[in-house]
Amino acid sequence: MSVKVRFAPSPTGMLHVGNARTALMVWLFARNKGGKFLLRIDDTDQERSKAEYEDAIEESLIWLGLDWDKKANQKDRTALYDAKIEELKSAGRLYACYETPEELGLKRKSQLSRGKPPIYDRGALELSEDEIAKFKAEGRKPHWRFKLEHAPITWNDHIRGEVTFNGGDLSDPVVIRETGLPLYHLCSVIDDIDFGITHVVRGEDHVSNTATHVQMFEALGASAPEFAHNALISDKDGGKLSKRLGSLSILDLRDEEGLEAMAIVSLMARLGTSDPIEVFDNIQPLIDSFDFSKFSRGTPKFDPDEILRLNAKLLHEMDFTDADEKLKALGLNDIDEEFWNAVRPNLERLRDIKDWWNVAKGPVEVTIEDPEFINQAAELLPAAPWSENTWSEWTSAVKENTGRKGKELFMPLRQALTGMDHGPELNQLLLLIGPEKTKERLAHKKAA
Ligand code: GLU
Repeated sequence: MSVKVRFAPSPTGMLHVGNARTALMVWLFARNKGGKFLLRIDDTDQERSKAEYEDAIEESLIWLGLDWDKKANQKDRTALYDAKIEELKSAGRLYACYETPEELGLKRKSQLSRGKPPIYDRGALELSEDEIAKFKAEGRKPHWRFKLEHAPITWNDHIRGEVTFNGGDLSDPVVIRETGLPLYHLCSVIDDIDFGITHVVRGEDHVSNTATHVQMFEALGASAPEFAHNALISDKDGGKLSKRLGSLSILDLRDEEGLEAMAIVSLMARLGTSDPIEVFDNIQPLIDSFDFSKFSRGTPKFDPDEILRLNAKLLHEMDFTDADEKLKALGLNDIDEEFWNAVRPNLERLRDIKDWWNVAKGPVEVTIEDPEFINQAAELLPAAPWSENTWSEWTSAVKENTGRKGKELFMPLRQALTGMDHGPELNQLLLLIGPEKTKERLAHKKAA
């Protein structure tokens, strides 16, 4: 069987870490199986759907490296939905309901107060022709429900194992609004059949929807696809993803947080699986290692610090050839391989390199706490041209002349040269600063 899957975002908001993880799972599965990945935009709700969100979702997916083989918008497919709705109506699987939201709310309340589950009571099926005529005369427009069979519904979920529902424990889902707008459930099933979707992969918030969908597939003369429902991620403390990086959109993680796509992808692909979380500089190993059986049913916890850790690691291992393009995109055209190699171990985010560039090229604010020592050191500075060994030649001479060693020796030099007490290795940084600026900084001239 050739695999065909879809990722079906509603363009009513940005792509966040949670739904990006679902997109990634769907995509990795497709690529692992040599299958096809469809991007389906669930935009039947034209009031809430916005073109800018659709664009942002596409931009996010592209940036993450998730390409699609085909794209479809539900808003362009209403003729198909209308035809299938007619079929279901003739087969008696859709029925008109006239309750207002307030009436439905009251029914729910009364069921709950009697200790009953709030399942729709199918009151609409009891209406007499007169009552229906009266509602129509009042101008009430019906919404439509799909009539579930009260029979067991079972599927073997790729992540959750065997899942069973009883049709009688579920409310008949509303599939057409009073405005005539067909809703997600039915459109999704019609599309999944029409596009030949073999596996529906989505969040576990859809598990009970799936039970009703299974019957819709059958009512439309199709067999249900296979399903995989992934556990939704929570924040570090088990709460809803809302804090810091977790509540940011993918584009914010790129633009505001300055993170690399592969840091996000690496974490999202492995979170909640039995594989170790490690950073990859390309997506292929993640495709190769993808397997639903590795996913746990437990709630995976998203720790934003982990993304930063992976982001840093990715940069520390990145070759200049890979960094060059990204640096140019940040407007940093003068950084060469020597500078990159010296500074990359100190980067958490790529943009941090600007700070090190300023440290190397100046001007920097330097406060010299021990001028006597620095004066002595300045006099021992080796003559140009400098090499990789200059730092050790210089510090050996300073050590010999002053008797200082270790932190006592290095820290004041670092502070005098950079105005900071941490940073890239000084043997390399010294070369990047160069003899002229080094002399100026040691001569305590401000802003050298
Ligand atoms: N638009 C739905 C959502 O974002 C799609 C769910 C599905 O994959 O069927 O939740």
